[in-house]
Amino acid sequence: MALHVRGVFLPDDEVRDVWLVGDRVTFEPVPGAETVADGGFVLPGLTDAHCHIGIARGGSPITSLDQARELARIDRDAGVLAIRDAGSPYPYPELEDEPDLPRLARAGRHVAPPKRYLRDIGVEVGAAEVAATVAAQAAAGNGWVKLVGDWIDRGVGDLAPAWDADTMAAAVAAAHAAGVRAAVHTFSESAVEIMVRAGVDSVEHGTGLSLDLIDLMARQGTALVPTMINIRTFGHIAEQARSKFPGYADHMLALRDRFPEVVRAAHEAGVPIYVGTDAGGGIDHGLAAEEMLLLHEQAGMSATDVLAAASWRAREWLGFPGLVEGGLADLVIYPEDPRRDLRVVRTPSRIVLRGRVVR
Ligand SMILES: [Zn+2]
Repeated sequence: MALHVRGVFLPDDEVRDVWLVGDRVTFEPVPGAETVADGGFVLPGLTDAHCHIGIARGGSPITSLDQARELARIDRDAGVLAIRDAGSPYPYPELEDEPDLPRLARAGRHVAPPKRYLRDIGVEVGAAEVAATVAAQAAAGNGWVKLVGDWIDRGVGDLAPAWDADTMAAAVAAAHAAGVRAAVHTFSESAVEIMVRAGVDSVEHGTGLSLDLIDLMARQGTALVPTMINIRTFGHIAEQARSKFPGYADHMLALRDRFPEVVRAAHEAGVPIYVGTDAGGGIDHGLAAEEMLLLHEQAGMSATDVLAAASWRAREWLGFPGLVEGGLADLVIYPEDPRRDLRVVRTPSRIVLRGRVVR
């Protein structure tokens, strides 16, 4: 059964008809297709470029595929039809082709330094084992590895890089040698500098970015997934740590406070920015619209640029073609023009995933 959709297509801003035949898009009319939308603003399905469907609410690993399905469906019902899972302690390659789940770009487990990351989430290894662990986790995912670039060092009382700079550069090289892209968690100034200079593909959070590094990212095409929702939790992290680690607490607050300007500068410099919520653990799924609004309101990205960062550009980055001839049959429709008032992204009027109506 083919579906027919008519509306104003973004980003082209043209009234069009599209037909969805199975999981594919065509602009050739299909006789007898069922019209499921006539009017509204039509976009390729949204992307959450940083979330975790292998981490349950509260922060422990999920223990069944059904839990991953449940979390992914929350995102789907918010119009997120492609997910990049930025590290999962529970493998779920079986879910890649499930017709009612978003498309999945997956890292394996986080590769983290010993006793310096969220408990039970990462594979924790010393410097000597990092490259081999990256290669193994590259094979466990489907195109990405996730590195933990920094975390609190309790001996230092502040954020510090996960390993020495040579080891961190070797981790990126090991990912590339395995044919996958590397994403790195960084909060601090020092770790992000090492990783950007090492040629990492995607900086997660990136609160410690300087203007020089932003320029380098723009030249290299290094992506930034700011996860502004996550950075808003730094106040809570700081207050919990303050009695034992006051320097760390102050550092986290300073990073938080400067972050909107960091994201603004990165966007203005031409760094590719993508929408990621960091859902999983302490952050709820289904908040892509809220991250989009933060990028718009706090970091000054235009509504159109935010839509690109969530939809067509993010899909292209992850390898999920949008609404082009032969593209994938994922779309969201909004009743009003999201370029005029972005808040409408909270309330899609139609969601179609893999050629099937979700709502
Ligand atoms: Zn994350």
